[in-house]
Amino acid sequence: MAAEKQTARTLTLICLVLLLLRQSCRTFAEKLKWDENGYVLYCPCMGRFGNQADHFLGSLAFAKMLNRTLAVPPWIVYRHHSPPYTNAHVPYSEFFQLEALSAYHRVVSLEDFMEKLAPKHWPSGQRNAYCFDTAAQRSADKKTCPMKDGNPFGPFWDYVGVEFDRSILFGGISFSAYHQPQWVKKFPPSEHPVLALPGAPAQFPVVEEHVGLQRYVVWSDKMVKEGEEHIATLLTRPYVGIHLRIGIDWQNACKLLESGDTGPHFMASPQCVGYSRQAALPLTTTMCLPDLAEIRRAVKLWVKKTSARSIFIATDSESHSRDIEKLFKGKVKVAILQPDSAQMDLYMLSKADHFIGNCVSSFSAFVKRDRDVHGLPSSFFGMDKPGKVTRKEEL
Ligand code: GDP
Ligand code: MN
Repeated sequence: MAAEKQTARTLTLICLVLLLLRQSCRTFAEKLKWDENGYVLYCPCMGRFGNQADHFLGSLAFAKMLNRTLAVPPWIVYRHHSPPYTNAHVPYSEFFQLEALSAYHRVVSLEDFMEKLAPKHWPSGQRNAYCFDTAAQRSADKKTCPMKDGNPFGPFWDYVGVEFDRSILFGGISFSAYHQPQWVKKFPPSEHPVLALPGAPAQFPVVEEHVGLQRYVVWSDKMVKEGEEHIATLLTRPYVGIHLRIGIDWQNACKLLESGDTGPHFMASPQCVGYSRQAALPLTTTMCLPDLAEIRRAVKLWVKKTSARSIFIATDSESHSRDIEKLFKGKVKVAILQPDSAQMDLYMLSKADHFIGNCVSSFSAFVKRDRDVHGLPSSFFGMDKPGKVTRKEEL
């Protein structure tokens, strides 16, 4: 009898605890309140990580400019060369802290938006797509936004679980601050709560005013832990990190420079030649595609200058690690990550005592911005002393 009573009491206690847990789970979920100021949704549908990161900074600024919450999309990772060949959609928080963005502006992950807010506030049947009328021109009826046409567009919105019901076209406006009043007037949140766009509401490369937003892009604890372990096991400080962007796609891209019709800026080059088109420093072929002689020269120079004891190489193809090792007769340790991951390479580069990047690459630009935030020095192949790029932050 006493034992039975005991069991009953224990059961009651368990039930009580479960009830409390459920209650607290519920309040946690309820923390996600609908923002009456509206939302910005977009697909990071142009380019790989570096391009997506540039676009992300601009999109974050755009959402703030319209005072709408940014639904932070996952990163699109292309797997053209390895099974299962389909794109991976990696939540923002896998690599970076979502919460750190809140110091700048209101954000929610796109995944949470869909799971917790969309069912009630943006249900199927009410999902408008917004795009430039020029983009809609390509559709059969010339009035439909090409939200899900082709890769990565279709797979992205499928991952998010969205079909669009209606298209709303706009024209004659850009994503810059100059058009802020038009955006607000055209799309008041009461009538247009969710601005879902086929691409990022931003320019590539990132505009000068938004470079400093990089400070809100903070590595996730998981990346820090893993990265610091790699640094501890593979490297000895001080170490020089280098980014070799020399693969076949890049060789082809850099050929465009030789034709001479690229103008003063070429892809991410404003980061080293300066943002002013009028005052841009010359961009040489070596800066775009350093040959082995230039790689050797720059590495030697910076290893000496920083008394480096090791070198970390991140590469899109060949690492030239043997050649680089030979330069120092085995006295300087040379390390690469295998298997490599783009984000872990970025982490390792961002923590180096000195970084030598590729001026034209947005992958390098991510590292350069991150290092600038932390006051760490960087140079580029073909440019040991990058032009002072002025940086204003839009707060
Ligand atoms: P960009 O083309 O150099 O401006 O930069 P993107 O990031 O847009 O595209 C280059 C892509 O090539 C990266 O996203 C990576 O997937 C890959 N890549 C380039 N350099 C490296 C590298 O050093 N390490 C790794 N792991 N991947 C790289
Ligand atoms: Mn690219």
